[in-house]
Amino acid sequence: MKRNLSYDVVVVGGGSAGIAAAIGASKTGAKTILIERNPYLGGQATHSNVAAYCGFFTNGENPEQIVGGVGNMVLEKLKELGQYDGYKLSTAGNAIVVLNPESTKFSLDEILAESEVDCLLHSQVIKVTKENGRIISLDCVDDEGQFTIEGKSFVDATGDANLAHLSEIETIFGDGKGNSQAATLMMRIDHVGKDVDFSPSSIKAAINAAKEGGIKYLTKETGIVIRKDLETDYVFAILPSINIDSLDAETLTSAEMNVRRQAQSYIKAFRKYLPGMENCTLVQTGPKLGIRESRRIIGEYTLTKEDVIQGMKSDDAIGRGAWPIEKHTNVNKMAEYMYMEDGDYYDIPIGVLKPRNSNNLWCGGRTISADSVAFASVRVMGIGFATGHAAGVSAAMTMDKDAYDVKEIQAELRRQGAII
Ligand SMILES: Cc1cc2nc3c(=O)[nH]c(=O)nc-3n(C[C@H](O)[C@H](O)[C@H](O)COP(=O)(O)OP(=O)(O)OC[C@H]3O[C@@H](n4cnc5c(N)ncnc54)[C@H](O)[C@@H]3O)c2cc1C
Repeated sequence: MKRNLSYDVVVVGGGSAGIAAAIGASKTGAKTILIERNPYLGGQATHSNVAAYCGFFTNGENPEQIVGGVGNMVLEKLKELGQYDGYKLSTAGNAIVVLNPESTKFSLDEILAESEVDCLLHSQVIKVTKENGRIISLDCVDDEGQFTIEGKSFVDATGDANLAHLSEIETIFGDGKGNSQAATLMMRIDHVGKDVDFSPSSIKAAINAAKEGGIKYLTKETGIVIRKDLETDYVFAILPSINIDSLDAETLTSAEMNVRRQAQSYIKAFRKYLPGMENCTLVQTGPKLGIRESRRIIGEYTLTKEDVIQGMKSDDAIGRGAWPIEKHTNVNKMAEYMYMEDGDYYDIPIGVLKPRNSNNLWCGGRTISADSVAFASVRVMGIGFATGHAAGVSAAMTMDKDAYDVKEIQAELRRQGAII
């Protein structure tokens, strides 16, 4: 393999945001590569078993789709493969797209194969080289050693703003005051009875009984369980949780082992105290601990709680969000929700994608600039497709210049089917 590559746009991170960014940049005419360290695409949807796309629809009685473009291409591919036939309502009553992680991996492979994007899996970016304030190349590592990718524009879709961090661009962790949302290990549980009551009160009763019965290491007193449909005898449970304040290997090693211990306890608790779960088995955790909130950039604009709740509208919009603010602050409690008006949405201005004091880096998905409350809405994957798509198009349209024209970017996004 050639060990020195050169592209117009280099997108790092193959989650929802990165896939949308890469396809968006490529459809704008840029020679584009997508770099992902995992052996498959999907980000947390596949690598943390986060088994539902949230954020594609408004809330209320008649959910309306507010994310189009590349996000919609993914829905269409899932439909073609018999994996999507419209939204379902979550236990909290929000419109979601329930996923099977294996079908999701395959759908994303297919979408990439049908595009002009080059993609490298098993490749981790470890170093950034800059010249006159611009990123000029990335050093990556695979099992053969190191290789370099030169680019004109770059997109950070790493979830944890790793590219911004390596570029020494200013980032914030959580709320910047030592608080961030809990990280949670997803559990895939098989041999689940058809009639199990997974309402939060039923789960709470089982967990309380287990705690009284002496089962240790249970954190959340109740949680969400996602079942694709009644034809399947497996579910995904969102329970073992922990707070982390760093992404160093020491912190993450300890956290991964802690939540795996919790997962074993939840299985014991369910087998004994949740009717219909007597034969349930833990088939898979993670694979990786799901991290809701870590680093993100400080952008030219920072999305605020008020913007979300009041359904802010902006002439600089590059996408829409409507997912409620869903904050998992306390590892022992269910998420707290704050809703905007039914059927409404907020505009996402282009400034949230562009770090202050950076020339040729754009950001999408979980890395964008938002206060910690607004972030609890805008972080979900449906919206990540929208911000990623906009980051990719913006990167492609600015690869030879520092300034951008939001009207031109909006026009290109609309041409590619984005809903603005
Ligand atoms: C427990 C839990 C439950 C959640 N539930 C939902 C839900 O039901 N629905 C929903 O829509 N959202 C949910 N979320 C939020 C959602 O999963 C994330 O916010 C979303 O995945 C962010 O998408 P992304 O594309 O920005 O990043 P990610 O999905 O994190 O993808 C980033 C990718 O970048 C790659 N990467 C990172 N660094 C490098 C590097 N240096 N080199 C190469 N590759 C790199 C990673 O391997 C990863 O694949 C949940 C999150 C958690 C933790």
